[in-house]
Amino acid sequence: MANQKRTKIKNKTDATLKRSPIPYGRQRIGADDIRTVISVLKSDWLTQGPMVKRFEESLARYCGAKFAVAVSSGTAALHLAYLAAGLQPDDEVITTPNTFVATSNMLLAVKARPVFCDIRLDNYNLDETKIESLITSKTKAIVPVHFAGHPCEMDSILSLAKKHNLLVIEDACHALGASYKNTKVGGIGDMTVFSFHPVKSITTGEGGAILTNNKNFYEKLLLLRSHGITKDKNGFNVMAELGHNYRVTDIQAALGLSQLKKLDGFIKKRSELMSGYYRELKDVKNIILPRITENIISAGHIFIIRVKDRAKRLKLMEFLKNNGIGVNFHYPAVYSHPYYRQNGYDGLTLDNEEIYSSSCVTLPLYPNLKLESIEYICDKIKTFFK
Ligand SMILES: *Cc1c(COP(=O)(O)O)cnc(C)c1O
Repeated sequence: MANQKRTKIKNKTDATLKRSPIPYGRQRIGADDIRTVISVLKSDWLTQGPMVKRFEESLARYCGAKFAVAVSSGTAALHLAYLAAGLQPDDEVITTPNTFVATSNMLLAVKARPVFCDIRLDNYNLDETKIESLITSKTKAIVPVHFAGHPCEMDSILSLAKKHNLLVIEDACHALGASYKNTKVGGIGDMTVFSFHPVKSITTGEGGAILTNNKNFYEKLLLLRSHGITKDKNGFNVMAELGHNYRVTDIQAALGLSQLKKLDGFIKKRSELMSGYYRELKDVKNIILPRITENIISAGHIFIIRVKDRAKRLKLMEFLKNNGIGVNFHYPAVYSHPYYRQNGYDGLTLDNEEIYSSSCVTLPLYPNLKLESIEYICDKIKTFFK
């Protein structure tokens, strides 16, 4: 049975791709990952054991940060970071509309007000030159998102933050393994948030983390992760803050630890595949490729093309889908979702964001993707525009 399955996969051709499409992203799990997880299942500690700490220490070391706190998801990590930052009702936080909704949803969860800044049309990150005009006396933080794994212009953002006394909390859910001017993402802003969902750089199934160099934030994050409970001087549990249970299991942490060892290899593979896209698509006149700005290493989370004739974008997506290619849409503008429209963002549009979100198409990108699949995908794009 298993053998039969294996032969079938080997014999997969273009024709069968229709039945078994290429996803836009997926995890890469090896025998070593499986062994590590099994060893935890056989141990005494499924949660609150030694693996979480080991994972956190490795993660902090990898990113060049002092502290890491592993939690149950990237969304939980954002929530805890915003709580640890002390955001209060009506505080304003400047962020990008080109992100997964969790970035600003968790601001709403702490009753802060997301203020959406327009994006750049070369790498689709928030436009650092448009931030300052949005700063008011209520602004408390900037939340840049390193879209598609491409780091934002952190020097400009950090100097703005310094000038106006704001915190910088990076949503780096796309960007574990990326660097900005030779510094790994994770050791740059006041706090940096990662996700370990299966489509991200490494996976723990579900999971996330907050990295920081600030001991006060670190201690607050630890407290809030686990009910706000700490030990008093007699060793008894006391609840000091209103916390959550955002803990991650040792099973997940062990998977994360094992995956982390392979992260650089994953990033290298993603970068080679991206080069494949640039090579194959450079002469296609009907589309725009993302620009990789100087002094950065992208984590290569997703690969975006933009269709010049926006009227053709949905037709292209349908055509690629019909050819077994798992295209995706990253992202509709956060402010355009019905919930946002009904809760204070009615009528908001930002020029570049509107252009971007009506022309973007996400193509598959993940470490197990074959270069031949990239050639197949690019051939289909060329066929569509012929
Ligand atoms: C994935 C993602 C999140 C949420 O992470 P989860 O682990 O899925 O909760 C937040 N922000 C961005 C930009 C993401 O891509």
